[in-house]
Amino acid sequence: MTTTLDTTIRAITNGEAPGETCTPDLAKGPWEFDETPGYGPGSSMFDVIPTGSPRQGALPAAYQDASPEDLHRRIREAKDALGDRLVILGHFYQRDEVVQHADFLGDSFQLANAALTKPDAEYIVFCGVHFMAETADILARPDQRVILPNLAAGCSMADMADEDSVEAAWEELVSVYGTEPDESGRVPVIPVTYMNSSAALKAFCGKHGGIVCTSSNAATVLEWAFERGQRVLFFPDQHLGRNTAKAMGVPLEQMPMWNPRKPLGGSTRDELMDARVILWHGFCSVHKRFTVDQVAAARESHPGVRVIVHPECPMPVVDAADESGSTDYIRRAVADATEPTTFAIGTEINMVNRLAAEYPQHTIFCLDPVICPCSTMYRIHPGYLAWVLEELVAGRVVNEIAVASTIQDDARVALERMLAAKPRD
Ligand code: SF4
Repeated sequence: MTTTLDTTIRAITNGEAPGETCTPDLAKGPWEFDETPGYGPGSSMFDVIPTGSPRQGALPAAYQDASPEDLHRRIREAKDALGDRLVILGHFYQRDEVVQHADFLGDSFQLANAALTKPDAEYIVFCGVHFMAETADILARPDQRVILPNLAAGCSMADMADEDSVEAAWEELVSVYGTEPDESGRVPVIPVTYMNSSAALKAFCGKHGGIVCTSSNAATVLEWAFERGQRVLFFPDQHLGRNTAKAMGVPLEQMPMWNPRKPLGGSTRDELMDARVILWHGFCSVHKRFTVDQVAAARESHPGVRVIVHPECPMPVVDAADESGSTDYIRRAVADATEPTTFAIGTEINMVNRLAAEYPQHTIFCLDPVICPCSTMYRIHPGYLAWVLEELVAGRVVNEIAVASTIQDDARVALERMLAAKPRD
């Protein structure tokens, strides 16, 4: 069997293998971090977790103490018992120990759609993070129930834009721009939220003539927005917004950053009047780890290397790479390479390692030599998966993610606009 990332992390932490991790805490069970502030070990461990973020209650000791073999057996037995009533979705960034039980593997957008392909499933167990489970709940049938195995699996980037701050920013922007369309009918500003945001912010966009984008269709979505608006308020990821708009020819000086702690987001009225894309100051701590120096080091150690990074990486890294694209773009680039190729990839380590195992004809490595998975994805562990499944077998639904009906309709409007905006790549 291929060595999994978890095995590698334990071997490094025990001094049995070479390599470096960002923290030895990665070798511990995620339940050890339920009482600690923060997102847990991994790339977003130093980000500030907002008060009121969902917390996970104690995982029963039987699951904490079970051996990996026992947990896998229990998961398989629960899956068999639930049959077609269950679908398990696994995100590309999820650990292999969890992904091996998934019926579908994909990015957040693909997984939200995948749930719909199993119409008999009463239960959608989403092995991803909170905003993905919310999106699945909005798109699912009303009688389908969505479950997140560990409620502490949030997303630090999504948490960087909260509803109150965005509402306050919107009021300030209206005070600057007013609400009247120009002579061509374009309103002053269109809100665009990245998929990686709360359901409340998707609803905000639906209510204000805006739209949701993914990393695959961000350019199509910006075109959609510029047809209807003079400018865009893009949240929460500044890097995806900047990289996409820059590739479309928007000058950097027309992309001011919005800092919700400063009046007018830290810009002057004139700067805001001149803006085409106002960027929220959010970021992904996984993709922020990639640097131009790492790209240079990959080129030096592997002449001819093909460097592909995710557009959540900072702009200089995207500029230094050969290509940038969504997780699905990266996966297809590797799958479609007909000649043995060396790839240096700038995205989450679980996905990179899985590609390396799946395509042994290529040399594939992560641009960041330090092993540092997404902290929140890492909160999902087979122990939590076994627990939620055995609870379902016993007729109890735990960790359900149910988006309030007052939010669902507006959020669905913004998501349906997103679904109609086909990716360019
Ligand atoms: S990789 Fe980044 S954007 Fe994705 S879930 Fe983790 S923190 Fe959020």
